[in-house]
Amino acid sequence: MEAQYARFYAAEVEHIRKWVERWDLEPVFLAGPPKLVAMVWDDLPKALKARSVLVREDLGHLPAGEFASRVESELQRWQQQYERSLIDRLFDSSGELRAVLGVDDTLVGLQEGLARDAVVVRGIVEQVRQCTNCGRTDRTDGSICVACGGARLLTGLRAVLPQLAKRYKVPLEVIADDAGDRLSRAGGIGALLK
Ligand SMILES: [Zn+2]
Repeated sequence: MEAQYARFYAAEVEHIRKWVERWDLEPVFLAGPPKLVAMVWDDLPKALKARSVLVREDLGHLPAGEFASRVESELQRWQQQYERSLIDRLFDSSGELRAVLGVDDTLVGLQEGLARDAVVVRGIVEQVRQCTNCGRTDRTDGSICVACGGARLLTGLRAVLPQLAKRYKVPLEVIADDAGDRLSRAGGIGALLK
């Protein structure tokens, strides 16, 4: 019986892993009877565990409304915890020069290909200039790009940040709440360096 379960759950772990990769899911909730769910949990690869939430309860039996609110509260708890630890890591790393804080250094880190994770406060209000030709973005004055001679336009950082993150393949986390206040006081944006 145990061996059967083990096989079933090993297959389940593989299924979950593929599913998470395919849809880029985060976080994943793993809920079920405590003993069984613990078996799946133990077999999860480390990277997947880091983005999963273990709920030692068989939520499948709950009425739909209760299920939704239960998942919602677990999700909020996870999100707050995740944001706090992200900000902790950012500040710790910046002390060791493995992260940058503030608009200028983060934009440099991003565009020099040095950043591996960017974090920004929701609704950040900062103006930057972006080259309409090469895309180079910073807060310096001037309507002509020093890199390529293209025209530069004044724009909100919030508007251009998602495309910059995408261009340099850096995951961008938008955070709020108390973790966000800490980041706001440090310039509202930062990035972990490679
Ligand atoms: Zn340019």
